[in-house]
Amino acid sequence: MALRNESKEDRAARKQAVKEVKAAKKERKQGIIPEDYGQKECTLCQKKVDLLIRCQTSEEDHAQERWQMVCGSCWNKVSGGVVDGDDKHQHYRYGGLWKNQHKKDAR
Ligand SMILES: [Zn+2]
Repeated sequence: MALRNESKEDRAARKQAVKEVKAAKKERKQGIIPEDYGQKECTLCQKKVDLLIRCQTSEEDHAQERWQMVCGSCWNKVSGGVVDGDDKHQHYRYGGLWKNQHKKDAR
């Protein structure tokens, strides 16, 4: 599909851009850029994910000022599904979120 009033240079630049996008997609498919690129492991179940919740879950965590990085499903277990914890999860303390910065282009 050629556009009218498009110079030779514009046309070449447009073709080059399309080529680059296609090449990037191909690389991803071939595993040159793995699907889990930039992901981190949950400290409780070791599953690699794009989003981790930083929190403390036990007396030891508080004593050692140790933070866990947990995935969504582990977070539900340690917090009871409440951001600030509930009565059954007295040692739970929320400390922030970690997101995979390489997933900005995720659809
Ligand atoms: Zn987990």
